[in-house]
Amino acid sequence: MIPPGSTIGILGGGQLGRMTALAAARLGYRCHVFAPETEQPAALVSAAQTRAAFDDRAALDRFAAAVDVVTLEWENVPTTTVEHLAERVPVRPGTAVLAVCQERIAEKRFVEGLGIGVTPFAPVADQAELALAVERVGLPAILKTTRLGYDGKGQTALRTPADVQGALERIGGGPAILEAFVDFAFEFSVVTARGADGSQASFDPVENRHADHVLALTLAPARLSEAQRAEAVAMAEQIAVALDLVGVLGVEMFLARDGRVLVNELAPRPHNSGHWTMDACATCQFEQLVRAVCGLPLGSPARHHDALMRNLLGFEAEAWPELLAKPGLRLHLYGKTETKPGRKMGHLNLLFPLGERPDGLDG
Ligand code: AMP
Repeated sequence: MIPPGSTIGILGGGQLGRMTALAAARLGYRCHVFAPETEQPAALVSAAQTRAAFDDRAALDRFAAAVDVVTLEWENVPTTTVEHLAERVPVRPGTAVLAVCQERIAEKRFVEGLGIGVTPFAPVADQAELALAVERVGLPAILKTTRLGYDGKGQTALRTPADVQGALERIGGGPAILEAFVDFAFEFSVVTARGADGSQASFDPVENRHADHVLALTLAPARLSEAQRAEAVAMAEQIAVALDLVGVLGVEMFLARDGRVLVNELAPRPHNSGHWTMDACATCQFEQLVRAVCGLPLGSPARHHDALMRNLLGFEAEAWPELLAKPGLRLHLYGKTETKPGRKMGHLNLLFPLGERPDGLDG
């Protein structure tokens, strides 16, 4: 057990780290952020900061000596960095989890190997393999880079045979993965936590709406049948156990039009679709991460309100005066100084009594 008063190291300096540090502070912990970027929203609310490259061994050694446990807010931290730290201090989640979640083919095979549904897929090393993959998977399909893609970056849709030509170049070359396009009713996600003692707690599944491949809205809870809800939560918890995860895991899913639940992607950290839990649940996803990595009992994930979470992208956050004036609206700003179109600057949560979220908010 790592008691309050200890220091939690966070790899990555973005808003997820920031909200983790805020939750940690509430429980009496100090945070030390390690990240290479100049602008680090997480460091602004942390006790200490190291600005260094993830391969700077000397800086990593100093960081390891200064913290009691390490977690991460970005799953693409190099595994060599995590291995180096793990020889000196507990890192949760660890390298094995990252190795699966950093590479789309490994991730899909891992999930499929658990008997959980994923869309048909095929690895694509080069143009010749792309032709074979298209034969196997069919069209329409989506070609994605195997590593470092997020928010639709490194992806291209293949709708007709004409789209196949030059597709690998459009995503910057292979290796890639071709995925059959899922005809989905909606996208949703489950954020689940697993403690060092194997205890588990999942938030209710939530519905996600994207605009230009970036999450725009989350509706809590998702409009699933009780059976689908239970199936989705069981899947997320099964994945967390199979990964031997200690921490928080976001599992992105599709509800296919034929009613099947398919897993799209895993994120072994707090997830954007879990931001609603900050205002609508007994324990939020960030506190759950702190509890998990410090070996504290997990908190209750119970939802006490229904909610709508909306990301504030780019200049949308400049509407903060009007947003603050709306009764009941909860505003979260990330303290980023540079506004760029599409950049996540903050989010808002709107709360509704249970069962009373109006329809038509998702347009
Ligand atoms: P990803 O980076 O895999 O999370 O993909 C970003 C978004 O692209 C998803 O949230 C979906 O909206 C869409 N998408 C990704 N893969 C598929 C797929 N196989 N079928 C349909 N839509 C997809």
